Amino acid sequence: MRVSAERFQKAKIIFRKDHTEDLWSIRVRPEHAFTFKPGQYATLGIEEDGKVVERSYSICSSPHEPEVEFLFELVMRGRVTPPLYHRQVGDTLLMRRQARGSFTLEHKSGHTKHLLVCTVTGVAPYVSMARSLARQARQGQSPGIQVILVQAASRSWEFAYREELEALAGEFAWFDYIPVISRPWEDPEWKGEVGRIEDVLRKYIDQMSLEPQNTTVYLCGHPQMIENGKGILHRRGFDKEALRTELFWVPPKETR
Ligand SMILES: Cc1cc2nc3c(=O)[nH]c(=O)nc-3n(C[C@H](O)[C@H](O)[C@H](O)COP(=O)(O)OP(=O)(O)OC[C@H]3O[C@@H](n4cnc5c(N)ncnc54)[C@H](O)[C@@H]3O)c2cc1C
Repeated sequence: MRVSAERFQKAKIIFRKDHTEDLWSIRVRPEHAFTFKPGQYATLGIEEDGKVVERSYSICSSPHEPEVEFLFELVMRGRVTPPLYHRQVGDTLLMRRQARGSFTLEHKSGHTKHLLVCTVTGVAPYVSMARSLARQARQGQSPGIQVILVQAASRSWEFAYREELEALAGEFAWFDYIPVISRPWEDPEWKGEVGRIEDVLRKYIDQMSLEPQNTTVYLCGHPQMIENGKGILHRRGFDKEALRTELFWVPPKETR
């Protein structure tokens, strides 16, 4: 697609943090005001021979923040993340002028519990939601819901926003953060939850009395986690109304 000033704007990188060698966050300052709801995604692009190659990225920041924040995982043979990986503070990238997506907290159901489940970078939309609810709470307006965030990774250093989320869980009774690792033998210092995300999900669904009548579940990130999570939740009676998903990529056919 050709670069069109109507659709795209430049966004300057004003902050970068490398969490691991293939996981990093940036904050960008777009040329124009950029409005979005917590949970939505932006479309970022790089220019190749006068054309834009674009991909979707969930927004980590909350709409009240002055810059827009993203969390990336480097996909070695990917088309967009390798060139993005080399962009540093002061560099620019292209960004569609409109945010997209409907993976936002669902309030119509009246559910009082919201179980947010993700793999590594799938935490991005939940960081935006948590920051937004925390701001609201600090202004004296209680969210009136219980939010339980379960994040799965192989090892603990892949939890890019762990410190922030643990601090929020310490500050607010309405927020729980449960990081889970699946390869404890590679991370012997880890003291938290261990195991397959499916087992941890079952445990917390039982322990916290999460029922389809009172809970909306959100699954975000890795396609296999979403597939397995949907299976468990369907068997527990969570239907389409109580279950929302955001799939980050589709596996190539041969591995499906
Ligand atoms: C709504 C939405 C929100 C997203 N938010 C984020 C986000 O916050 N952070 C983020 O890093 N990505 C996010 N993604 C994924 C992102 O859009 C790209 O697909 C990803 O960055 C890979 O782009 P690429 O051009 O480097 O690789 P591509 O050239 O698109 O992909 C190359 C191959 O790698 C596979 N692949 C793609 N991503 C991964 C991965 N993470 N791990 C393993 N294999 C993969 C693809 O299936 C393909 O076969 C999101 C996707 C969607 C649809």
